[in-house]
Amino acid sequence: MDVRKIYMDADALLEGHFKLSSGNHSQFYLQSAKVLEDPKTAKLLADELAKEIKASGVKVDTVCAPALGGLIAGFALAQALDVRFIFAERVNGEMSVRRGFEVSKGEKVLMCEDIITTGGSAMEAAAVVKELGGEIVAVAALANRGFCKRENSDVKTKPNCKLPQDIPFFALADFTFEMYEPEACPLCKNGSEAIKPGSRGN
Ligand code: ZN
Repeated sequence: MDVRKIYMDADALLEGHFKLSSGNHSQFYLQSAKVLEDPKTAKLLADELAKEIKASGVKVDTVCAPALGGLIAGFALAQALDVRFIFAERVNGEMSVRRGFEVSKGEKVLMCEDIITTGGSAMEAAAVVKELGGEIVAVAALANRGFCKRENSDVKTKPNCKLPQDIPFFALADFTFEMYEPEACPLCKNGSEAIKPGSRGN
């Protein structure tokens, strides 16, 4: 599956000069919502991801999306895996699980995002799920920004990856583009100004 082509065809791989949530600048930006606005594409991607997860033998009871960015990908994946779907959300800056969702003790939960950059939001939500009694068995995303090692890829884990190394991380592709500290950004040096495309860089 050519995930890069799917993103490009959906105008979801933006080229320009972007300010990411981390404060760093990048020439590229992934807007997964544009890919997922077509439910058929969402299903196609989720089915492929589910196939990889099933083949690994990891047992999943529930998919949990950490906040808005992962909602559609997480729901589509839960549907493909035929398991329950819940989500966490940020309230006054704090990640929480609301809406009457319950997690039983020992329930095997997979955290699903649209894109994993360092995995910070996913791990914040995972901590809440663990407090409720859940066990985090895996992380999944449609695409990986290349800071964390995923299954079936040679991309190595970088020091800023926040995902635990003892559970698998599944994604369909690596999008490894350069990020720059503002002071060292070549795009800034050329005189252009970085724009902020979304919140928290996803
Ligand atoms: Zn810049």
